[in-house]
Amino acid sequence: IKRIGVLTSGGDAPGMNAAIRATVRAGFYYNLEMYGIYRGYEGMIGNEIKKLETKHIYHVLERGGTFLKSARSEEFKTAEGRKKAYENLTKHGIDALVIIGGDGSLTGAHLFYNEYGIPSIGIPGTIDNDLAGTDLTIGFDTACNTAIQAIDKIRDTATSHDRLFFVEVMGRDAGFIAINAGIGSAAAATLIPEKKMPIERLVERLKARTAQMKQSNIVIVAEGGKSGGAVEIADKIKKQLPYYDIKVTILGHLQRGGAPSALDRVLASKLGVAAVEGLIQGKYDVMAGIINNKIVYTPIAKAIVGHKDVDEDDFRVAKILST
Ligand code: ADP
Repeated sequence: IKRIGVLTSGGDAPGMNAAIRATVRAGFYYNLEMYGIYRGYEGMIGNEIKKLETKHIYHVLERGGTFLKSARSEEFKTAEGRKKAYENLTKHGIDALVIIGGDGSLTGAHLFYNEYGIPSIGIPGTIDNDLAGTDLTIGFDTACNTAIQAIDKIRDTATSHDRLFFVEVMGRDAGFIAINAGIGSAAAATLIPEKKMPIERLVERLKARTAQMKQSNIVIVAEGGKSGGAVEIADKIKKQLPYYDIKVTILGHLQRGGAPSALDRVLASKLGVAAVEGLIQGKYDVMAGIINNKIVYTPIAKAIVGHKDVDEDDFRVAKILST
């Protein structure tokens, strides 16, 4: 391997910059040439490819977002699109890839590897934390911190007015941010995509808490909740708790931004080095992750198929603490 192309793809996540920087630095350390592929697979198809130098990665570790930009690419899902992408890589002499992204991006990487056999390795970059093969994905910790800080502020106003707030956090298929934000901010209840909570049970819990004089309440709802989003649930509850002043806050894209936490910076940095070293050692079509504080390379096919759900124990803890 002489020339590695690095890209960020799919939903952006805080810490992606730190992962790019670590990948590039590790590449330089091992005397490799490093190329940035801008806008994910879209830029691979559109030939938005540039040689990276130290100046490109100066002061990016601490910044949110991704300086290589990210994109979703419908064209990459087609064989013709991937062919164009491969031709562009060949033009630049790129003989290996590091793909930073979520399950969609890694699915694309797996397919591309099977078609063209270009040595490639994935780094889990997503706030959703839903990839198998790693305890944590890059961006998840920062997103949880952002959600908890926002909920603290909502708590202040909720308490002043004895209001019931429904706070919607990100998580379409997985409730990791929700369950952590719920535990970390003393929520009255947490609704996640993995579990259905009947509205009646939620109403009962809120009534019981009101009886205990816990007048202000915060309910966390993952956007992909089985009973609907925060707006929908608040509407249903309104009729049953007419005496309550009910408000809804959707945290939305706030959760994707901001400087990465210490944990995300360190995770991203370790995985960037692991990706380059993995390629050098001939580990292809795998994702670099950290399990029990050790670098682990998991076949991408396993990392994406083994879609992770919230741990039963975490759900139980959240329940104990909100009853
Ligand atoms: P994430 O990586 O955050 O899960 P997406 O699911 O949007 O984000 O995937 C990012 C990109 O990865 C897609 O826009 C597409 O270019 C590529 N991709 C996803 N799934 C596939 C697939 N089945 N085949 C080829 N490319 C894919």
